[in-house]
Amino acid sequence: MPKKADCTPEQWQKYKDSQKAHYERNRERLLQEKREYYENNKDAILARTKAYAKTDKARARMSAYQSLPEVKERRRKNAAAVAVDPEVLAIRAAYRKAWKTGVSPEEHAAILNKQGGICGICQNPLTGTHIATDHCHETGLIRGLLCQACNTTEGRIRKLGFTPFEFAQRLHDYLSNPPAADMALFWLNRGKG
Ligand SMILES: [Zn+2]
Repeated sequence: MPKKADCTPEQWQKYKDSQKAHYERNRERLLQEKREYYENNKDAILARTKAYAKTDKARARMSAYQSLPEVKERRRKNAAAVAVDPEVLAIRAAYRKAWKTGVSPEEHAAILNKQGGICGICQNPLTGTHIATDHCHETGLIRGLLCQACNTTEGRIRKLGFTPFEFAQRLHDYLSNPPAADMALFWLNRGKG
């Protein structure tokens, strides 16, 4: 196989043309072989693809590709073409969520009904599409539905490594005895930043 760097443009073009002609002549057979190879090596191929996608090289290439102006424009047009019908969008979102969480729209509705339509923690009404399906991160068990604020709070406390009681106790202690209070400094809120 010649290298592009070692060829004149004419030689390279000739090589490309012969490759293309070979492919066209044997297209059906090559495709069939490719399909068979894929079927026989599916697990290894998928594992390799997945591992490659996580490398810095793959990420850099993907982000370079996605920031090409023509790619950006094409993606924008595609998105604009489908993002028109709110009903279609809602259905797509529901399917995406069901696929991701394993909770079907019917099961989701049943949980919402069981909770009386309110957040499992703050008890504010759960409305709109931004309802979090809260689950145990160790077992995957779906615990219930939360508003975004409560779900985020729960996740942050867990990430800090405290039990909810420990965090509440520390928060309470901090607010009861703020370390800087005796310095009598006051927040002036002079615009952003
Ligand atoms: Zn809530």
